[in-house]
Amino acid sequence: MRKILKTIAIINYLLIIISSNAQFTKQDTLRGSNGPGRDWWNVKAYTINITPDYSKNAIKGSVSIIFGVLKTGKNKIMQIDLQQPLKIDRIEASAKIKKYWREGNVYFIDFGDKDFKRTLENSNVSTINTITIYYHGQPTVAKRPPWDGGWIFNKDANGRPWMSVACQGLGASVWYPCKDYQLDEPDLGASLIINVPDSLTAVANGHLLEKKSKNGMTSWTWEVKNPINNYNIIPYIGKYVNWKETYEGEKGKLDCSYWVLDYNLEKAKEQFKQAAQTLKAFEHWFGPYPFYEDGFKLVEAPHLGMEHQSAVAYGNGFQNGYRGRDLSGSGWGLKWDFIIVHEMGHEWFGNNITTEDIADMWVHEGFTNYSETLFTEYYYGKEAGSDYCIGTRNNIQNDIPIIGPYGVNKEGSGDMYYKGGNMLHTIRYVINDDEKFRAILRGLNSTFYHKIVTTRDVENYMSKQSGKDLSKIFDQYLRTTMIPVLEYKFTGDNMYYRWTNCVKGFNMPVKPDKADDWLKATTEWQTVAVTAGILQAGLKIDRNFYVTVKKVE
Ligand SMILES: [Zn+2]
Repeated sequence: MRKILKTIAIINYLLIIISSNAQFTKQDTLRGSNGPGRDWWNVKAYTINITPDYSKNAIKGSVSIIFGVLKTGKNKIMQIDLQQPLKIDRIEASAKIKKYWREGNVYFIDFGDKDFKRTLENSNVSTINTITIYYHGQPTVAKRPPWDGGWIFNKDANGRPWMSVACQGLGASVWYPCKDYQLDEPDLGASLIINVPDSLTAVANGHLLEKKSKNGMTSWTWEVKNPINNYNIIPYIGKYVNWKETYEGEKGKLDCSYWVLDYNLEKAKEQFKQAAQTLKAFEHWFGPYPFYEDGFKLVEAPHLGMEHQSAVAYGNGFQNGYRGRDLSGSGWGLKWDFIIVHEMGHEWFGNNITTEDIADMWVHEGFTNYSETLFTEYYYGKEAGSDYCIGTRNNIQNDIPIIGPYGVNKEGSGDMYYKGGNMLHTIRYVINDDEKFRAILRGLNSTFYHKIVTTRDVENYMSKQSGKDLSKIFDQYLRTTMIPVLEYKFTGDNMYYRWTNCVKGFNMPVKPDKADDWLKATTEWQTVAVTAGILQAGLKIDRNFYVTVKKVE
């Protein structure tokens, strides 16, 4: 009987898997998982050479990929993502290509008899494999960037061309051929060569290596030396002017430069003073800025903003708040520029520490959301930080879990922002040691420096370093939509309390408001003698814990 029940349970489980995956296609799986066209090779570097045609909303270019081999042998098929309607014109490679073909947004390149040898990780770059892909077409045009992304062929306020790209989630393959998967960042960095008419300026990530003019066109070559997410490699093209400053940070001198449209220079010079203030606050909380070698830039963009590594996109209108609004309703959100602070927070969480699967994107957005609280605290004090963080709870939906389905390029709930931030705030109060909490934030950034992680890596690290098993807290807030309810009741001078609306074994300790005694609540009734004050007024929990309290009879 038990065996039969177990079999039924397994069948049910399989049915659930089948039905929950039914909404996803083979294309989703190709895009969102480390499949056989991806797992045998490792991107070492990208060189992207692009010429946009503003009048035709078109681009043409090439991408050279230097790659290492992780699984040796013959009959290797390489998956290269390139979204329709862009088309590959031809491919050159260091190995002979037998054939290549397209399936939707994916190209497969068959290397036939080529016997791929394992690449030593420390081998000279020139001895390993290269492939160069030439392509062209009219890329998807962004409808509502940065959320509904693609290429942006805009005009500035004076009617002059202003172009860029926003492609987080959608993927970089919307404008260049690549391995469009967060697991594989180019270990040696990336170069972006942008060819534009002499009258325009082209800006991208990292440092400017070269600027060459010929026949009315200028080629701008930008380079990052550090690993970078595909969606972070971005051209910005327009009538830009710039200024520079040197930031004296934890790791030495950091080259900062700021690029804005010519008519916004004065406003920007005032507003962008917040960039150095943000670096100062975040180096305190998170450790050194993770990309000193590539410098730091803020670049005015034709959309609200995005965390483009070392060249952060800014479009918040040179005003404080989120487009002038305070997302927390506490007032503190109007003291600083949301886009400067939030997008810069991603340099640590998102760009330095990147998740393998976007289902775990809370690691990017939850910590970055919490960086807003930490910025507020750094300049305005701990209570101000709490006001801000708690104020944002009004934006939580609790619609679906924060962690999404794996392997299909799908994010979980938008609650990854405010609820993610409030979960971290709650955990900080459970740890109850601010210096230890800061050491954990800095430790995450040094332990996972330039690395790809899963949510479990982050969860386990935080439990281990705090000396507290936080696993039930992560399960509760990341994997369910339930907000834990602390039920309590009085019998004589005793109070009984327990957790409900929670995962099995939920055992988060909480602190009553303005009291030193902790309640070590579990899902079983516990009892404690209470004072007359609590008996009369009822139980209040410290507001920093994101929980609900309910008196029962
Ligand atoms: Zn973000």
